[in-house]
Amino acid sequence: MKVFINPGHMPGVDPGAVNPVSGLRECDVALAVGKLIEYYLKNAGCEVLRLQSDNLNGESPTYPNVCQTANDWGADVFVSLHCNAFNGYARGIETLVFNFGGQAERLAACVHKQLVDTEQSIDSQIPDRGLKQRQNLSVLRNTDMPAILVEMGFIDNDYDVILLENKQDAIAKAIARGVTDYANL
Ligand SMILES: [Zn+2]
Repeated sequence: MKVFINPGHMPGVDPGAVNPVSGLRECDVALAVGKLIEYYLKNAGCEVLRLQSDNLNGESPTYPNVCQTANDWGADVFVSLHCNAFNGYARGIETLVFNFGGQAERLAACVHKQLVDTEQSIDSQIPDRGLKQRQNLSVLRNTDMPAILVEMGFIDNDYDVILLENKQDAIAKAIARGVTDYANL
């Protein structure tokens, strides 16, 4: 089982969303969680390739191309890691797929369930925003294998950011477990 991990955004180039109080950056949360997921999945016997890059599919040629790398490597599954941001009040976890009805939805359901269970076991108030279809996201549209984008919480929300800052290990374990649930490992 070959798992491609794409922490969203890129330190030094594109921080993603930033918490207005603490300055916590989406790119750093995604990278930290991605490294932990890599560790847990390798322990479970998976091959893992992790790439965080400002070039999702050809738009920034000076950086490695995320979708092409995953496709050329022959990844079995693709997981992109992000944090949401909106108005400071919105909260919750959501998992995005290109469309419903295929293996990507099954992968999304496995990962989302583990992540929601874990985050709600720490903070029972964090909402489950469910699975959503998004057809305008390069990493979901231009990847050949089942691909999901996990929004682990809202980095601009006072409550979600506590999980994103302090519970990265639990979040990573949950996402890794979701991937192994999908693969029946
Ligand atoms: Zn993002």
